[in-house]
Amino acid sequence: MSTDLQITPLDSWLDTGGKPLVIAGPCSAESEFQVMETARRIAEIPQVTVFRAGLWKPRTRPGEFSGVGDKGLPWLTRVKEETGLKTTVEVADASHVEQALKHGVDILWLGARTVANPFSVQAIADALRGVDIPVMVKNPISPDLKLWLGAIERIHVMGIRKMIAIHRGFHYFEKSIYRNAPMWEIPIELKRLVPELPIIVDPSHICGRRDLLESIAQKALDLEMDGLIIESHFDPDKALTDAAQQITPKDLQEMIHSLVIREKRGNIDFENKLEELRTEIDKLDGELLQILAKRMEIIDEIGEYKNKNDITILQMKRWAGIIEDRLAIGTHLGLEETFLKNLLSLIHEESIRRQTVIFNGKVGGSLKFEV
Ligand code: PEP
Ligand code: MN
Repeated sequence: MSTDLQITPLDSWLDTGGKPLVIAGPCSAESEFQVMETARRIAEIPQVTVFRAGLWKPRTRPGEFSGVGDKGLPWLTRVKEETGLKTTVEVADASHVEQALKHGVDILWLGARTVANPFSVQAIADALRGVDIPVMVKNPISPDLKLWLGAIERIHVMGIRKMIAIHRGFHYFEKSIYRNAPMWEIPIELKRLVPELPIIVDPSHICGRRDLLESIAQKALDLEMDGLIIESHFDPDKALTDAAQQITPKDLQEMIHSLVIREKRGNIDFENKLEELRTEIDKLDGELLQILAKRMEIIDEIGEYKNKNDITILQMKRWAGIIEDRLAIGTHLGLEETFLKNLLSLIHEESIRRQTVIFNGKVGGSLKFEV
């Protein structure tokens, strides 16, 4: 994947005092009182420079609170005037863009559901042609880097240069403590592809619950992400949307205070040591793959042998024995049991697949697998 994006450096258009950018505000604007009450408290946190609020809310089911709509735009203007915070709002279609621009919203963002649909992104991009406004692009709901990058490119091609990517986690089919799995490798790969594009992290939508926010926010900073966008409500339990993940401005301030901002680049000794360790990992991975390949070769050999001789082997019994034996060795070596089970089951599946290929064509013959 090659990219050629010209991005205006973040600190040239937004003064964050040399610190990571922090955006905060409620998931949804609910009333003028709620917006102003929350904004006033957030404005007292020095690190926060931008106030967020959703006006047009994409909801999973009809009938749920779907935002106050255009009515909330003057409230954001009031936030700007009375607190000095910049404002940002989610836009999901061309009319939202038009309304937000008309009311002087400082930064627009595209939500995860919108980014999942190239038609919607294109309609927003068309409405932005020739406009000079910063745009933030959240990752799509599915773990699809191309789709994320595609949305960024559609906006960029219209002449938008002040851009930020927002990492808000990905829908994942496996059970996880997170509402949206962080899958850090995806934003890291985006950083590698477009190093000049700032990426901020949205711990609220990754976590879905308050108690996990701080660890994800710290992880974001440790991975050299450029900032955070966090949902905050003056009375979170009464929030009309995303109540479980919103925190009070006071808790937000405490959380920001306890975050550790580490040096961006380590010193030479640190870099060298890191490089040394990485080389060792590369070497071990090579060995690991060779051993795996060797194991599969032997599996094939056993498959051939059984195929010729029609030997029966009680596969389940053998497999149960393997699990028990390998788990004992692995856990003794300090490896996690769940990790070992997943790994062994992957190897098992691949062994079966290879033997099936060998036995293929032996219609009527009993399929016996070596694991
Ligand atoms: C939001 O920021 O309130 C929101 C709807 O987020 P996402 O698009 O990431 O689901
Ligand atoms: Mn939300």
